[in-house]
Amino acid sequence: KKTENQMLVIFGASGDLTARKLVPSLFNLFNANQLPKNFIVLGASRSDMTDTAFRKKVVLESKYLKEKFKQKSDKEIEEFANTFFYEDLGSDYDTDYSRLRKRVEDLNNKYKTGGNIMYYLSTPPTLYEPIAKNLADAGLNTQNNGWKRLIVEKPFGYSLETGKALNAGLQKYFTEPQIYRIDHYLGKETVQNLLVTRFANSIFEPLWNRNYIHHVEITNAESVGVEKRGGYYDKSGALRDMFQNHLLQIVSLIVMEPPIGDQPEEIRNEKVKALKSLRIMKDEETLHDHTIRGQYMASTINGEKVKGYREEEGVSADSTTETYAAIKFFVDNWRWKDVPFYVRTAKRMPTKVTEVVIHFKAPHHQIFQDSGLNNKDNKLVIRIQPDEGILMKFGVKVPGQGFKVERANLDFYYSSLAETHVMEAYERLLLDAMQGDATLYARADEVEAAWEFVDPILEYWKNGKDVRMYGYAAGVWGPENADELIDGIGYWRNPGEN
Ligand code: NAP
Repeated sequence: KKTENQMLVIFGASGDLTARKLVPSLFNLFNANQLPKNFIVLGASRSDMTDTAFRKKVVLESKYLKEKFKQKSDKEIEEFANTFFYEDLGSDYDTDYSRLRKRVEDLNNKYKTGGNIMYYLSTPPTLYEPIAKNLADAGLNTQNNGWKRLIVEKPFGYSLETGKALNAGLQKYFTEPQIYRIDHYLGKETVQNLLVTRFANSIFEPLWNRNYIHHVEITNAESVGVEKRGGYYDKSGALRDMFQNHLLQIVSLIVMEPPIGDQPEEIRNEKVKALKSLRIMKDEETLHDHTIRGQYMASTINGEKVKGYREEEGVSADSTTETYAAIKFFVDNWRWKDVPFYVRTAKRMPTKVTEVVIHFKAPHHQIFQDSGLNNKDNKLVIRIQPDEGILMKFGVKVPGQGFKVERANLDFYYSSLAETHVMEAYERLLLDAMQGDATLYARADEVEAAWEFVDPILEYWKNGKDVRMYGYAAGVWGPENADELIDGIGYWRNPGEN
């Protein structure tokens, strides 16, 4: 695909995301000759900085760049740094963008970026709509002299109502096809590989339904606590921070029907349909029985004392924000009727891992009774991070007399494709947006469908009757009673187990 000449304008350019993710991703693209011939970055935020100071901050003296690109020469890094510029926006939220407009026009004329502009909103989310409005007021959203696109970061609202309001607010100033909602999970190779595994092979899709799949499990575990983000996290929680966006995106790729082709709208239409088929939990009994929330408590991990969630900086001492969420749900459509989905996400788990496990039904008639296996199902494990790969678990005969069956693995790891550079999520997504490909970006109706599902759970946890908050020791797999969610089996499959 062709990447046209363009300018990337980053709002919130003095912040963490710009230095830690965006600039290193751009440097990867620069090194791989993937950036267009005429390409510049204009940083914008309230901080007062010169172009030189900005270059130093995010490129020349950036620890993120230094750590990652030790082998790069000063000359190469300097050449890259010279494509960076900075404009301060003043201290007022209702800034008049006429000065920004003048700067954009001057840079566009000088560096021949063709009038194409990608705006990246990497600011606190309360500023998304005001920035979109300011851009429109200054005529910086018009497409009669080159395209204009707007990338926004999560969170896409705080609830269904605020999510809808944000979509409507942005759509006042930019059309939906101009808006790119970034969900970096969709930039991960294994997440995209879900589509290829399902729709480029003939061996999985015939089994990908209620006739053969017993249940689906998704685990997203972080070993760290809230770190320095306590203040932010306490207003959000596991359900909003991970489940509404990243995990439901993964669910939509597992659940969706085959799209008619690989065009963005063909794939996104099927994802929306999938999200709309999740059975919304309405009554308190279901909400009570199918959702579990918890908070990590002080504990000792490898001899080191760690704080409980309520003692973390920025977290209120009587906080009811969950650091653990486990949800059981069903998908009301022909393919998935009655297949339970179990999704959990949590902090302070024994390890950092995200994986999907498709549990296939055991053979209808077991002839090898004395197998020694207590868990006979075939499993397909899709490991999203770390060690991205696909692992197939199946039974083989133990050599020797009789028919003893043992679990064997057919494993594929992305790292075995050593010759191929596996693009990082932000790198891949930035390049896609630069090329106008929105396949891996969330559309407004997708975000709203996800909120439709999540809202009743949030509401129940906030105001429902008999809602419990379970404590779990930091460093274990969450509250013990979470195992009871898993029908018939009675325990979650923890990563690393057969
Ligand atoms: P951040 O460091 O808290 O904020 C980014 C910058 O926004 C700040 O440096 C601040 O710079 C600027 N800002 C504040 N008011 C502004 C205004 N009126 N106009 C323009 N800029 C203004 O946030 P971040 O961690 O970089 O994250 C940015 C966005 O990405 C957030 O929405 C966050 O939720 C989302 N996100 C971040 C991560 C991550 O890993 N960091 C991951 C996923 C999503 P000045 O003080 O100079 O204005």
